[in-house]
Amino acid sequence: MPTLIRAGVVVPATGGTILEGGAVVVDDGRIVEVLDALGARRAAAAFAGEIVDEPDSILMPGLVNIHTHGVSPSPLFPSGSAPLPDERWLGHLDRHAVAGTTTVLSTCGLGTMNEIREADRRHAVHVRGATAHTAGSIAAALAADGAGLTAQHTQQTIERMLADGAVAIGELAGGQTLGGGGQDLVFLPAAILEHTGVVVTQAQARALKESVLGRFMDEGSYSAALLAERAAQAGLGGIDPEALRRLVVDTVMPSVGSARDGIREGVDAARRFGVPALVHSASASADLIRELQRSDDRRPATIIAGHVNHTSHTASEAVRLAESGRDAGWYGEASVFDLLEGRETVQTREHWDALLEGIDLVDVLATDYGHDGRHDPLISAVQDVIARGHRGLAEAVEMVTSVPAALVPGLVEGGAMLRRGAPADLVIADRDDLRIVRRVYIGGVPVAERGRMLSAARA
Ligand SMILES: [Zn+2]
Repeated sequence: MPTLIRAGVVVPATGGTILEGGAVVVDDGRIVEVLDALGARRAAAAFAGEIVDEPDSILMPGLVNIHTHGVSPSPLFPSGSAPLPDERWLGHLDRHAVAGTTTVLSTCGLGTMNEIREADRRHAVHVRGATAHTAGSIAAALAADGAGLTAQHTQQTIERMLADGAVAIGELAGGQTLGGGGQDLVFLPAAILEHTGVVVTQAQARALKESVLGRFMDEGSYSAALLAERAAQAGLGGIDPEALRRLVVDTVMPSVGSARDGIREGVDAARRFGVPALVHSASASADLIRELQRSDDRRPATIIAGHVNHTSHTASEAVRLAESGRDAGWYGEASVFDLLEGRETVQTREHWDALLEGIDLVDVLATDYGHDGRHDPLISAVQDVIARGHRGLAEAVEMVTSVPAALVPGLVEGGAMLRRGAPADLVIADRDDLRIVRRVYIGGVPVAERGRMLSAARA
Protein backbone atom coordinates (compact mmCIF):
# COMPACT_ATOMS: atom_id res chain seq x y z
CA MET A 1 0.00 0.00 0.00
CA PRO A 2 1.42 3.42 -0.88
CA THR A 3 2.05 6.00 1.87
CA LEU A 4 1.75 9.76 1.52
CA ILE A 5 3.98 11.55 4.06
CA ARG A 6 3.13 15.24 4.47
CA ALA A 7 5.58 17.47 6.31
CA GLY A 8 5.93 21.11 7.30
CA VAL A 9 8.88 21.36 4.96
CA VAL A 10 10.49 18.83 2.65
CA VAL A 11 14.24 19.08 2.07
CA PRO A 12 15.07 17.04 -1.05
CA ALA A 13 18.84 17.61 -0.62
CA THR A 14 19.27 18.49 -4.25
CA GLY A 15 19.58 21.87 -5.89
CA GLY A 16 19.52 23.82 -2.63
CA THR A 17 15.73 23.88 -2.55
CA ILE A 18 13.10 23.29 0.11
CA LEU A 19 9.40 22.57 -0.39
CA GLU A 20 7.15 24.29 2.15
CA GLY A 21 4.18 22.06 2.91
CA GLY A 22 5.49 19.35 0.59
CA ALA A 23 5.15 15.60 0.73
CA VAL A 24 6.59 12.37 -0.59
CA VAL A 25 4.78 9.29 -1.75
CA VAL A 26 6.40 5.98 -0.85
CA ASP A 27 5.51 2.64 -2.35
CA ASP A 28 7.24 -0.71 -2.16
CA GLY A 29 10.21 0.78 -0.32
CA ARG A 30 10.86 3.52 -2.83
CA ILE A 31 10.00 7.15 -3.35
CA VAL A 32 7.52 7.37 -6.17
CA GLU A 33 6.68 11.09 -5.97
CA VAL A 34 8.09 14.27 -4.41
CA LEU A 35 5.36 16.91 -4.17
CA ASP A 36 5.15 20.63 -3.50
CA ALA A 37 2.36 22.05 -1.32
CA LEU A 38 -0.20 22.17 -4.09
CA GLY A 39 0.67 18.67 -5.28
CA ALA A 40 0.49 17.40 -1.69
CA ARG A 41 -3.01 18.85 -1.19
CA ARG A 42 -4.25 17.38 -4.45
CA ALA A 43 -2.73 13.99 -3.74
CA ALA A 44 -4.19 13.91 -0.22
CA ALA A 45 -7.70 14.67 -1.48
CA ALA A 46 -7.93 11.36 -3.28
CA PHE A 47 -5.17 9.15 -1.93
CA ALA A 48 -5.63 5.40 -2.06
CA GLY A 49 -3.29 4.50 0.75
CA GLU A 50 -2.07 5.54 4.19
CA ILE A 51 -1.59 9.26 4.88
CA VAL A 52 0.99 10.29 7.48
CA ASP A 53 0.55 13.91 8.51
CA GLU A 54 3.50 15.49 10.28
CA PRO A 55 2.95 19.22 10.52
CA ASP A 56 5.78 21.32 11.99
CA SER A 57 8.23 18.70 10.83
CA ILE A 58 11.11 18.53 8.41
CA LEU A 59 11.25 15.58 6.04
CA MET A 60 14.68 14.84 4.59
CA PRO A 61 16.72 11.94 3.26
CA GLY A 62 18.29 9.54 5.73
CA LEU A 63 21.65 10.87 6.92
CA VAL A 64 24.95 9.55 5.59
CA ASN A 65 27.96 9.37 7.90
CA ILE A 66 31.29 8.88 6.13
CA HIS A 67 33.50 8.75 9.23
CA THR A 68 32.48 6.10 11.76
CA HIS A 69 34.22 3.46 13.85
CA GLY A 70 32.94 0.45 15.78
CA VAL A 71 29.96 -0.29 13.53
CA SER A 72 30.91 -3.84 12.49
CA PRO A 73 32.67 -6.94 13.86
CA SER A 74 35.90 -5.75 12.18
CA PRO A 75 39.17 -4.93 13.93
CA LEU A 76 38.61 -1.60 15.65
CA PHE A 77 40.31 1.61 14.47
CA PRO A 78 43.40 1.98 12.26
CA SER A 79 45.25 0.27 15.15
CA GLY A 80 43.53 -3.02 14.26
CA SER A 81 42.43 -3.39 17.87
CA ALA A 82 40.19 -6.23 19.06
CA PRO A 83 36.70 -5.98 17.59
CA LEU A 84 33.86 -4.80 19.81
CA PRO A 85 31.43 -7.43 21.13
CA ASP A 86 28.32 -7.74 18.95
CA GLU A 87 26.09 -5.85 21.38
CA ARG A 88 28.46 -2.87 21.31
CA TRP A 89 28.70 -2.41 17.55
CA LEU A 90 25.01 -3.13 17.10
CA GLY A 91 24.35 -0.58 19.83
CA HIS A 92 26.44 1.98 17.96
CA LEU A 93 24.33 1.35 14.86
CA ASP A 94 21.21 1.86 17.01
CA ARG A 95 22.56 5.22 18.15
CA HIS A 96 23.21 6.24 14.57
CA ALA A 97 19.74 5.09 13.48
CA VAL A 98 17.61 6.72 16.19
CA ALA A 99 19.27 10.02 15.31
CA GLY A 100 18.42 9.72 11.63
CA THR A 101 21.50 8.14 10.08
CA THR A 102 20.59 5.43 7.58
CA THR A 103 23.99 4.82 5.94
CA VAL A 104 27.42 4.61 7.59
CA LEU A 105 30.83 4.16 6.06
CA SER A 106 32.92 2.04 8.41
CA THR A 107 36.34 3.69 8.40
CA CYS A 108 38.21 1.41 10.78
CA GLY A 109 39.69 0.22 7.51
CA LEU A 110 41.40 -3.09 8.33
CA GLY A 111 38.43 -5.47 8.34
CA THR A 112 37.22 -7.74 5.59
CA MET A 113 34.14 -7.15 3.47
CA ASN A 114 32.56 -10.27 5.00
CA GLU A 115 32.62 -8.48 8.35
CA ILE A 116 31.09 -5.37 6.81
CA ARG A 117 28.41 -7.45 5.09
CA GLU A 118 27.62 -9.13 8.38
CA ALA A 119 26.96 -5.75 10.00
CA ASP A 120 24.90 -4.67 7.03
CA ARG A 121 22.81 -7.84 7.20
CA ARG A 122 22.21 -7.76 10.94
CA HIS A 123 21.10 -4.13 11.18
CA ALA A 124 18.73 -1.99 9.13
CA VAL A 125 21.32 0.79 8.79
CA HIS A 126 23.26 0.36 5.55
CA VAL A 127 26.86 -0.41 6.51
CA ARG A 128 29.48 0.13 3.81
CA GLY A 129 33.19 -0.60 3.95
CA ALA A 130 36.46 1.25 3.45
CA THR A 131 39.90 -0.28 3.07
CA ALA A 132 43.25 0.85 4.45
CA HIS A 133 45.10 -2.36 3.64
CA THR A 134 48.49 -0.96 2.70
CA ALA A 135 51.83 -2.28 3.96
CA GLY A 136 52.42 0.84 6.05
CA SER A 137 48.94 0.92 7.59
CA ILE A 138 49.11 -2.75 8.55
CA ALA A 139 52.62 -2.36 10.01
CA ALA A 140 51.42 0.68 11.98
CA ALA A 141 48.47 -1.27 13.37
CA LEU A 142 50.70 -4.16 14.42
CA ALA A 143 53.13 -1.74 16.09
CA ALA A 144 50.40 0.13 17.99
CA ASP A 145 48.14 -2.80 18.88
CA GLY A 146 46.90 -5.21 16.18
CA ALA A 147 45.04 -7.42 18.69
CA GLY A 148 42.12 -7.78 16.27
CA LEU A 149 44.18 -8.66 13.22
CA THR A 150 44.35 -12.17 11.83
CA ALA A 151 46.02 -13.42 8.65
CA GLN A 152 42.83 -12.79 6.70
CA HIS A 153 43.17 -9.09 7.60
CA THR A 154 46.91 -8.64 7.17
CA GLN A 155 46.94 -10.45 3.83
CA GLN A 156 44.24 -8.25 2.33
CA THR A 157 45.08 -5.60 -0.25
CA ILE A 158 43.24 -2.46 -1.29
CA GLU A 159 42.79 -3.93 -4.75
CA ARG A 160 41.09 -7.09 -3.48
CA MET A 161 38.93 -5.14 -1.02
CA LEU A 162 37.72 -2.85 -3.80
CA ALA A 163 36.93 -5.87 -5.96
CA ASP A 164 34.96 -7.27 -3.01
CA GLY A 165 32.83 -4.13 -2.63
CA ALA A 166 34.72 -1.59 -0.52
CA VAL A 167 33.72 1.89 -1.69
CA ALA A 168 36.53 4.04 -0.28
CA ILE A 169 40.07 4.03 1.04
CA GLY A 170 40.58 4.91 4.69
CA GLU A 171 40.80 5.90 7.34
CA LEU A 172 44.44 6.46 6.51
CA ALA A 173 46.13 6.58 9.94
CA GLY A 174 44.49 7.57 13.19
CA GLY A 175 45.15 8.88 16.65
CA GLN A 176 46.14 5.39 17.80
CA THR A 177 48.89 5.03 15.21
CA LEU A 178 50.01 8.67 14.91
CA GLY A 179 50.59 9.33 18.59
CA GLY A 180 47.26 11.10 19.03
CA GLY A 181 44.24 10.72 21.30
CA GLY A 182 44.22 6.92 21.09
CA GLN A 183 47.74 6.84 22.52
CA ASP A 184 46.81 9.23 25.32
CA LEU A 185 43.68 7.31 26.20
CA VAL A 186 44.78 3.68 26.00
CA PHE A 187 48.26 2.66 24.94
CA LEU A 188 50.47 5.11 26.80
CA PRO A 189 48.63 4.82 30.16
CA ALA A 190 48.80 1.01 29.77
CA ALA A 191 52.56 1.11 29.13
CA ILE A 192 53.15 3.46 32.07
CA LEU A 193 51.06 1.27 34.34
CA GLU A 194 52.93 -1.83 33.24
CA HIS A 195 56.38 -0.31 33.79
CA THR A 196 55.79 1.85 36.87
CA GLY A 197 52.59 0.65 38.51
CA VAL A 198 51.23 4.20 38.34
CA VAL A 199 47.81 4.98 36.86
CA VAL A 200 47.78 8.17 34.77
CA THR A 201 44.82 9.94 33.18
CA GLN A 202 44.43 10.68 29.50
CA ALA A 203 45.33 14.33 30.11
CA GLN A 204 48.44 13.36 32.08
CA ALA A 205 49.53 10.92 29.39
CA ARG A 206 49.10 13.60 26.75
CA ALA A 207 51.08 16.12 28.80
CA LEU A 208 53.93 13.62 29.30
CA LYS A 209 53.91 12.70 25.62
CA GLU A 210 54.03 16.32 24.50
CA SER A 211 56.94 17.10 26.83
CA VAL A 212 58.88 14.36 25.04
CA LEU A 213 57.60 14.61 21.46
CA GLY A 214 55.79 17.92 21.18
CA ARG A 215 52.55 18.16 19.22
CA PHE A 216 54.21 17.00 16.01
CA MET A 217 55.70 13.70 17.23
CA ASP A 218 59.26 14.94 16.91
CA GLU A 219 61.96 13.67 19.30
CA GLY A 220 63.83 16.94 18.78
CA SER A 221 61.23 18.86 20.76
CA TYR A 222 62.07 17.05 24.04
CA SER A 223 62.09 19.30 27.09
CA ALA A 224 63.69 17.73 30.17
CA ALA A 225 62.35 20.46 32.45
CA LEU A 226 58.80 20.06 31.18
CA LEU A 227 58.97 16.27 31.51
CA ALA A 228 60.21 16.56 35.10
CA GLU A 229 57.39 18.94 35.97
CA ARG A 230 54.69 16.85 34.34
CA ALA A 231 56.07 13.58 35.70
CA ALA A 232 55.80 15.01 39.20
CA GLN A 233 52.22 16.12 38.54
CA ALA A 234 51.35 12.64 37.33
CA GLY A 235 52.81 10.91 40.38
CA LEU A 236 55.87 9.72 38.45
CA GLY A 237 58.40 11.95 40.18
CA GLY A 238 60.35 8.94 41.47
CA ILE A 239 60.98 7.48 38.00
CA ASP A 240 64.32 8.05 36.25
CA PRO A 241 63.57 10.79 33.66
CA GLU A 242 65.58 9.13 30.90
CA ALA A 243 63.74 5.84 31.44
CA LEU A 244 60.43 7.69 31.31
CA ARG A 245 61.44 9.53 28.14
CA ARG A 246 62.41 6.24 26.49
CA LEU A 247 59.16 4.62 27.60
CA VAL A 248 57.16 7.39 25.92
CA VAL A 249 59.23 7.24 22.73
CA ASP A 250 59.17 3.44 22.55
CA THR A 251 55.42 3.32 23.08
CA VAL A 252 54.37 6.14 20.76
CA MET A 253 56.87 6.24 17.91
CA PRO A 254 57.09 2.70 16.44
CA SER A 255 53.73 3.06 14.65
CA VAL A 256 54.15 6.69 13.58
CA GLY A 257 56.55 6.21 10.67
CA SER A 258 54.57 3.28 9.27
CA ALA A 259 51.29 5.16 9.65
CA ARG A 260 52.74 8.03 7.62
CA ASP A 261 53.87 5.53 4.95
CA GLY A 262 50.29 4.21 4.98
CA ILE A 263 48.94 7.70 4.24
CA ARG A 264 51.22 8.03 1.21
CA GLU A 265 50.35 4.54 -0.04
CA GLY A 266 46.63 5.09 0.43
CA VAL A 267 46.56 8.44 -1.36
CA ASP A 268 48.53 6.90 -4.20
CA ALA A 269 46.02 4.02 -4.36
CA ALA A 270 43.18 6.56 -4.52
CA ARG A 271 44.78 8.01 -7.64
CA ARG A 272 45.57 4.61 -9.12
CA PHE A 273 42.11 3.11 -8.60
CA GLY A 274 40.00 6.27 -8.88
CA VAL A 275 38.46 5.68 -5.45
CA PRO A 276 37.97 8.35 -2.76
CA ALA A 277 40.29 8.35 0.26
CA LEU A 278 39.72 9.63 3.80
CA VAL A 279 42.93 10.87 5.44
CA HIS A 280 43.32 11.41 9.18
CA SER A 281 44.13 15.10 9.53
CA ALA A 282 45.86 16.02 12.78
CA SER A 283 48.98 17.86 13.92
CA ALA A 284 51.06 14.67 13.59
CA SER A 285 50.11 14.29 9.90
CA ALA A 286 49.90 18.00 8.99
CA ASP A 287 53.33 18.30 7.35
CA LEU A 288 52.74 15.17 5.28
CA ILE A 289 49.26 16.33 4.26
CA ARG A 290 50.74 19.64 3.12
CA GLU A 291 53.35 17.81 1.11
CA LEU A 292 50.68 15.64 -0.55
CA GLN A 293 48.53 18.69 -1.26
CA ARG A 294 51.49 20.33 -2.99
CA SER A 295 52.16 17.23 -5.10
CA ASP A 296 52.19 17.79 -8.83
CA ASP A 297 50.64 14.36 -9.44
CA ARG A 298 47.77 15.30 -11.73
CA ARG A 299 45.88 12.01 -11.70
CA PRO A 300 42.36 12.93 -10.57
CA ALA A 301 41.35 11.81 -7.10
CA THR A 302 38.81 12.56 -4.41
CA ILE A 303 40.83 13.09 -1.25
CA ILE A 304 38.90 13.94 1.89
CA ALA A 305 40.72 15.37 4.88
CA GLY A 306 39.04 13.79 7.91
CA HIS A 307 38.14 15.99 10.87
CA VAL A 308 39.70 19.19 9.54
CA ASN A 309 38.65 20.60 12.94
CA HIS A 310 40.92 18.20 14.89
CA THR A 311 41.96 19.86 18.14
CA SER A 312 45.56 18.67 17.97
CA HIS A 313 45.91 21.61 15.58
CA THR A 314 45.47 25.08 16.94
CA ALA A 315 42.36 26.60 15.39
CA SER A 316 44.41 28.79 13.09
CA GLU A 317 46.64 25.87 12.03
CA ALA A 318 43.48 23.89 11.23
CA VAL A 319 42.09 26.74 9.13
CA ARG A 320 45.36 27.18 7.23
CA LEU A 321 45.67 23.45 6.52
CA ALA A 322 42.05 23.28 5.34
CA GLU A 323 42.62 26.30 3.12
CA SER A 324 45.62 24.66 1.54
CA GLY A 325 43.51 21.51 1.03
CA ARG A 326 40.70 23.45 -0.55
CA ASP A 327 43.14 25.17 -2.90
CA ALA A 328 44.59 21.78 -3.86
CA GLY A 329 41.14 20.38 -4.65
CA TRP A 330 40.81 18.28 -1.48
CA TYR A 331 37.51 18.03 0.38
CA GLY A 332 37.07 18.78 4.07
CA GLU A 333 35.12 16.70 6.56
CA ALA A 334 34.36 18.21 9.96
CA SER A 335 33.75 15.72 12.76
CA VAL A 336 31.41 16.65 15.55
CA PHE A 337 33.14 14.21 17.97
CA ASP A 338 31.37 15.14 21.21
CA LEU A 339 32.09 18.84 21.12
CA LEU A 340 28.45 19.96 21.27
CA GLU A 341 26.95 17.75 23.96
CA GLY A 342 29.14 15.05 25.52
CA ARG A 343 32.37 17.06 25.78
CA GLU A 344 34.44 14.17 27.08
CA THR A 345 37.03 14.26 24.29
CA VAL A 346 36.61 17.76 22.86
CA GLN A 347 35.76 20.65 25.14
CA THR A 348 36.07 23.52 22.69
CA ARG A 349 34.00 24.55 19.71
CA GLU A 350 36.60 27.06 18.57
CA HIS A 351 37.93 24.85 15.73
CA TRP A 352 34.46 23.81 14.60
CA ASP A 353 33.28 27.40 14.31
CA ALA A 354 36.50 28.65 12.71
CA LEU A 355 36.35 25.99 10.00
CA LEU A 356 32.64 26.42 9.32
CA GLU A 357 33.07 30.20 9.10
CA GLY A 358 35.79 29.77 6.46
CA ILE A 359 35.03 29.79 2.77
CA ASP A 360 34.47 26.24 1.46
CA LEU A 361 36.60 24.60 4.12
CA VAL A 362 33.96 22.09 5.21
CA ASP A 363 32.08 20.06 2.61
CA VAL A 364 30.78 17.23 4.76
CA LEU A 365 29.85 16.68 8.40
CA ALA A 366 30.47 13.35 10.14
CA THR A 367 30.82 12.09 13.70
CA ASP A 368 34.04 10.10 14.11
CA TYR A 369 33.96 8.07 17.33
CA GLY A 370 34.16 10.23 20.46
CA HIS A 371 34.95 8.70 23.86
CA ASP A 372 34.09 4.97 23.67
CA GLY A 373 31.69 5.68 20.82
CA ARG A 374 29.76 8.37 22.66
CA HIS A 375 29.93 10.88 19.80
CA ASP A 376 27.23 13.50 19.49
CA PRO A 377 24.53 12.58 16.96
CA LEU A 378 25.12 13.71 13.40
CA ILE A 379 21.72 15.43 13.41
CA SER A 380 22.94 17.62 16.32
CA ALA A 381 25.75 18.80 14.08
CA VAL A 382 23.22 19.76 11.42
CA GLN A 383 21.05 21.57 13.95
CA ASP A 384 24.12 23.42 15.27
CA VAL A 385 25.38 24.69 11.90
CA ILE A 386 21.88 25.99 11.14
CA ALA A 387 21.32 27.53 14.59
CA ARG A 388 24.73 29.22 14.49
CA GLY A 389 24.06 30.60 11.03
CA HIS A 390 26.96 28.73 9.42
CA ARG A 391 24.67 27.26 6.74
CA GLY A 392 21.03 27.45 5.68
CA LEU A 393 18.69 24.48 6.10
CA ALA A 394 19.01 23.06 2.59
CA GLU A 395 22.79 23.34 2.49
CA ALA A 396 23.23 21.93 5.99
CA VAL A 397 21.13 18.90 5.11
CA GLU A 398 23.08 18.36 1.89
CA MET A 399 26.32 18.22 3.93
CA VAL A 400 25.10 15.00 5.56
CA THR A 401 23.19 13.48 2.64
CA SER A 402 23.76 14.14 -1.05
CA VAL A 403 27.26 15.64 -0.71
CA PRO A 404 28.87 12.67 1.07
CA ALA A 405 26.91 10.34 -1.23
CA ALA A 406 28.36 12.12 -4.27
CA LEU A 407 31.90 12.10 -2.87
CA VAL A 408 31.81 8.33 -2.37
CA PRO A 409 30.23 6.65 -5.40
CA GLY A 410 28.55 3.38 -4.50
CA LEU A 411 27.93 4.46 -0.90
CA VAL A 412 24.23 5.29 -1.20
CA GLU A 413 21.85 3.98 -3.81
CA GLY A 414 19.88 6.94 -5.13
CA GLY A 415 22.45 9.46 -3.93
CA ALA A 416 20.72 10.35 -0.62
CA MET A 417 18.27 12.72 -2.25
CA LEU A 418 14.49 12.72 -2.23
CA ARG A 419 13.69 11.88 -5.82
CA ARG A 420 11.58 9.47 -7.74
CA GLY A 421 12.95 5.93 -7.73
CA ALA A 422 15.33 6.39 -4.78
CA PRO A 423 15.04 4.03 -1.80
CA ALA A 424 12.75 5.52 0.85
CA ASP A 425 15.40 6.18 3.51
CA LEU A 426 13.78 9.12 5.28
CA VAL A 427 13.94 11.19 8.44
CA ILE A 428 11.13 13.18 9.99
CA ALA A 429 12.34 15.63 12.64
CA ASP A 430 10.90 18.58 14.52
CA ARG A 431 11.03 21.69 12.42
CA ASP A 432 12.36 23.97 15.15
CA ASP A 433 14.79 21.43 16.59
CA LEU A 434 16.09 18.76 14.25
CA ARG A 435 17.60 16.90 17.19
CA ILE A 436 14.10 15.69 17.99
CA VAL A 437 13.83 12.88 15.46
CA ARG A 438 10.25 11.69 15.20
CA ARG A 439 10.65 8.75 12.84
CA VAL A 440 13.28 7.12 10.64
CA TYR A 441 12.44 4.98 7.63
CA ILE A 442 14.84 2.65 5.86
CA GLY A 443 13.56 1.20 2.60
CA GLY A 444 10.12 2.57 3.45
CA VAL A 445 9.98 0.68 6.78
CA PRO A 446 9.90 2.61 10.07
CA VAL A 447 12.96 1.52 12.08
CA ALA A 448 13.09 4.12 14.84
CA GLU A 449 10.60 6.40 16.53
CA ARG A 450 11.26 9.19 19.02
CA GLY A 451 14.59 7.86 20.24
CA ARG A 452 13.49 4.22 20.33
CA MET A 453 14.46 1.43 17.95
CA LEU A 454 11.59 -0.54 16.44
CA SER A 455 11.70 -4.29 15.97
CA ALA A 456 12.35 -3.96 12.22
CA ALA A 457 15.79 -2.55 12.93
CA ARG A 458 17.71 -5.78 13.52
CA ALA A 459 17.77 -8.98 11.53
ZN1 LIG B 1 40.70 10.17 12.37
